[in-house]
Amino acid sequence: MGGVSGCELCEQPGGVLLWRDDRLRVVRVDDPDYPSFCRVIWNDHVKELTDLGRADREYSLEVVCAVELSLRRSLRPDKINVASLGNMTPHLHWHVIPRFADDRHFPNPVWAEARRECTVNAAAKRIPDDVLRKQLVDLLGGTFRE
Ligand SMILES: [Zn+2]
Repeated sequence: MGGVSGCELCEQPGGVLLWRDDRLRVVRVDDPDYPSFCRVIWNDHVKELTDLGRADREYSLEVVCAVELSLRRSLRPDKINVASLGNMTPHLHWHVIPRFADDRHFPNPVWAEARRECTVNAAAKRIPDDVLRKQLVDLLGGTFRE
């Protein structure tokens, strides 16, 4: 399936590439308030989860879980937020966001109004890309491919 013209996730990686295979990819989003914010993005332009067959649905959830596990092990966050919205970019993807009780929006979603200035040490909450890549390869197999 070719990319859809004008779709951000067809035309760009959507973040720093951490892991990918033929079906999907994992990227880290460049967000200073949430430096370990990851996304799992289905490679083809698919709109809804139920547009995928059962095996692909299960596989996508497995990859979302691998990202969640990596973030939990590395950061021990107070909560992980997993969200699939796609209202702005209707190309199937999941946001996987480690949350801390003192982060900028907690307990609100990261897209809601801020509750405070960012009080976390942003640099300390960032997992180096190489570390995330290695953890994902360990959990999901394969090797890192650009
Ligand atoms: Zn797309």
